[in-house]
Amino acid sequence: MYIKDILKTDKNTFSFEIFPPKVTSKIDSVLHTAQTLSKYQPDFISVTYGAGGGTSKNTAKIASFIENGCQIPALAHVTCVSSTKEEIATVLDHLKLMGIQNILALRGDIPEGKIEFPNPLHYKYATDLMKEIKTRGDFCIGGACYPEGHPESTSKEADIEHLKRKEDMGCDFLITQMFFDNEMFYRFIDKTQKYGLAIPAIPGIMPVINAKQIQRSCKLSGATLTRKFQRMIDKYQHNPDAMRQAGIAYATEQITDLFSNDVRGIHLYTMNNPDIAAAIKQNISYLY
Ligand SMILES: Cc1cc2nc3c(=O)[nH]c(=O)nc-3n(C[C@H](O)[C@H](O)[C@H](O)COP(=O)(O)OP(=O)(O)OC[C@H]3O[C@@H](n4cnc5c(N)ncnc54)[C@H](O)[C@@H]3O)c2cc1C
Repeated sequence: MYIKDILKTDKNTFSFEIFPPKVTSKIDSVLHTAQTLSKYQPDFISVTYGAGGGTSKNTAKIASFIENGCQIPALAHVTCVSSTKEEIATVLDHLKLMGIQNILALRGDIPEGKIEFPNPLHYKYATDLMKEIKTRGDFCIGGACYPEGHPESTSKEADIEHLKRKEDMGCDFLITQMFFDNEMFYRFIDKTQKYGLAIPAIPGIMPVINAKQIQRSCKLSGATLTRKFQRMIDKYQHNPDAMRQAGIAYATEQITDLFSNDVRGIHLYTMNNPDIAAAIKQNISYLY
């Protein structure tokens, strides 16, 4: 099923993100995670894609298992910066063959010093990839957005201008980078609406259950830590049980506030941890 059609219905949505294993030999454990998550009846499950392209086959395999084995709509991420246009064409053909209908089209982070950027043999921006996917006609396309602005962008305004290009290129919906202050998300949505963006942006929520994870995630994403959030980490980082409980509570509070403000869907970064997803789902089961 196309995610754009799910988003057009009256119901609020709840969806998950998982990532493929670094080594193919560990794929069974991720398939098991996907199966466990599917029991919570998410509206869709997304599967990330390694920027180096190394896990593209695993992304397709896991997405196909979700779509065909678990009967849950799968959203396969595809990044373009590290692959040639020819390689991307093969990836898209493969996804189609596996029955995948939804693609999150991304540029990917530029691996420092490892590739020539821009490179005429590669797509430069996510919009270029979207344009290519659109020519194939039969995929629903999602894109990434950044409530705090993309780390490379010259201004938040320029970033939103580029998002509008995504919509013009046939992008059907957006999923946000993680954020820890909902006000940033509300301000971002206000700006996109003023700019005339009509496609929905689903907030991506990251339950933080250990301090190391957050340092790495913030470094990669550029997400700002709020004072409230930082205090929670400072207080509980050396007590894993307390940190886990506090992280779940923080994510639950964020989601409750988002639904209270009429946000229509949530995408949960599960970090392949079904127990955390289950705990949050349980906490919000009557809210959406
Ligand atoms: C929901 C979500 C899922 C993600 N999943 C993955 C994943 O699976 N694998 C992975 O490797 N990474 C993933 N990422 C990270 C993402 O690949 C990086 O943030 C990357 O740096 C940007 O990708 P993008 O698709 O947003 O790029 P783009 O939309 O191409 O934007 C990149 C930068 O270029 C600017 N820009 C865009 N178009 C133009 C233009 N025409 N002219 C000038 N500037 C322009 C933008 O403002 C931005 O600063 C994800 C991010 C999010 C938010």
